[in-house]
Formats: sequence, structure tokens, C-alpha cells
Amino acid sequence: MSARILDGQALAGRLQQELAPQVAAFTAAQGRPPGLAIVLVGSHPASEVYVGHKLKAGRAIGFRVDLERLPETSSLADVLSLVERLNRSSVHDGILVQAPLPKGLGADAAAHVFDAVAIEKDVDGFAPASVGLMVQGRPAFVACTPAGVMELLARESIPIAGRRAVVIGRSDIVGKPVALLLLQRDATVTICHSKTPDLAGVCREADILVAAVGRPGLVTKDFVKPGATVIDVGINTVTDEALASRLYPEGHKRLVRFRERGSMLVGDVHPEVADVAGALTPVPGGIGPLTITMLMMNTLKAARARTGS
Ligand code: NAD
Repeated sequence: MSARILDGQALAGRLQQELAPQVAAFTAAQGRPPGLAIVLVGSHPASEVYVGHKLKAGRAIGFRVDLERLPETSSLADVLSLVERLNRSSVHDGILVQAPLPKGLGADAAAHVFDAVAIEKDVDGFAPASVGLMVQGRPAFVACTPAGVMELLARESIPIAGRRAVVIGRSDIVGKPVALLLLQRDATVTICHSKTPDLAGVCREADILVAAVGRPGLVTKDFVKPGATVIDVGINTVTDEALASRLYPEGHKRLVRFRERGSMLVGDVHPEVADVAGALTPVPGGIGPLTITMLMMNTLKAARARTGS
């Protein structure tokens, strides 16, 4: 059996095409495009890449996307004062503070900053009020990666109600919200984590298995019930040759390319799972592109709500 590949890249392209005329209509009606401000503190290399993708994708669809940079040496008060200014901005409908924040800001910095984002502009869905509304199933901005998982399942007509779903990972940004959203769609949900005994056995019960861990190739064939839908949220950069060779057989084009480049992006799901699963998201090209698209959908939603349009 070879799993159907759930092409998140292609779906993201279709969703962006659907979004573009709606953005154009908003712009024509309001005399300005829907606006997103991205706050980047310091210059974390991966964050620079993620922010670059968000700027490019948003502007291509017709959004105003502004990058607000602060130096690595900024204080928490500097970041909070920028967020306050953006809360008051009439041209910015959404605010995204790129994580991680520099360690120098202190362990609680992210919580303080997410608390400060106005709820009507919280397009990342990380503010506690947004999370609370989502938990109660009330209208709210849903964090973009979990929202992307749900959009993919819906668009691919994967049945959720009455099915067993297992989520590996319990982070606030992926694992917990994905599990709650699956529960709201009437799945019977189990959340697994680093202390779960017999992880493979629990995962084998799943009709829908979501991996959001950050461990390359953790989910092997023995984790997967034949025919299950497997959603791989993990994004891991592999530079270790031995690990790359455990993931891909000799002669595989991804291993050949790894040897040319010295690194590759992989998920949490071992490629051998494609032999057992019914449907599977690839990495790259699965949930990643949908995350950015959901950010843009949230920004348009925020713009409409703020302007009553
Ligand atoms: P995290 O480190 O905050 O959480 C990881 C979770 O995995 C924890 O809850 C931990 O208990 C669990 N875990 C760790 N080791 C485990 C093990 N051996 N067995 C079972 N559970 C284990 O990570 P996160 O922020 O939730 O991100 C998870 C992955 O998703 C990362 O690879 C990250 O890069 C990726 N991610 C992708 C997107 C996207 O757009 N596709 C967005 C966010 C995160």
C-alpha cells in the first residue's frame, strides 16, 4: 500500500487564489489593503527565513505586510511599546510577534508580549483570551498551524467525527490546540508526550495521527494503523549523515541531494510510513505552507471585523 500524499503546497496555492479577489474587494471598498505587522526582535536565522516567507506570500496576495524590526539588545519595555503602537495603528489589522524572542528578554517575555497584543488583532491566536475562546468553541483566532491542519483535513474530506485521533506533542502552539480542534469536530482524542508509555501502541489506535514533536523520523511503521491518516507537523533540519541514511535508502533522490547540500528538512514521520498509512502529509510541502496561508486568512478576518465589512 502506498499512502495518498496530502499536498499542502498545492492546497495553499488554491487557498491563496481564493483569498486574492477577497483581498482586492476589501481594498477597493476600504481604500486600503488589509494590513499585517510582523515584529522581529533580533536576527534569529530561522526566524529571518520564516518572516521572509510571510512577507512574500502576504504581499503577493495583496496584503500590506510591514516588518517592524527591533535590535537584539531591546528591552521588554521596548517590545511592549512597539506592540502598543501597533495595537493603536489604523492600518494594521493583525499583529504577529515572531517567536522565539531573544533569551536576554527573560523567560516570561513571550507570555508578556502575547498578553499585550489586542485580541482583535491577535491573528497568531496566541493571546490567552484567544486561546480561552477557542477552548470554549467560541469564535476566535485559531493559531495558524493547528488551523492549517484542520483546513487540510476538511479540504481532503478526511472524516473526523467519531474517529480516534492521537496527537503526539502537547505544546501551546501546536499539540494542545490541534487536539482541542479535533475534539470540537467530535473525534475521540488522545494527547501523547515525552512521558507517554507505549507510544507506538497508543498511536496505532489512531485513525488520524498528528505528529508535532520535533524528532526526525520518530513515527515509524509500527506507530501506524494500516490506512490511517498521518499529519506530520514536524520540521527538522538534519545534518547528520547517519540519521539521513536511516531515513532514506541508498540511491534515494533525497539522500543524494542531502550528500550534495549537507542538510535536509524532514518531518517527525519516517518515510517508510507511506507503506502503511492511507494518507500522509509530506515535509516539506505539507503543513508548513498552510500555516502562512492561515495567517493571511486570519488577517483578512481581522480586517473585516475591524471595519465591519
Ligand atoms: P515543542 O518542543 O514545544 O513541543 C514538542 C512536544 O513533543 C512536547 O510536548 C513534548 O512532550 C513532545 N515530545 C518530545 N519528545 C517526545 C518523544 N520522544 N515522544 C513523544 N513526545 C515527545 O515543539 P512545537 O513548537 O510544538 O513544534 C513541534 C514540531 O513542529 C517542531 O518540529 C516544529 O519545528 C514544528 N512546527 C511546524 C510548524 C509548521 O508550520 N509546520 C509550526 C510550528 C512548529
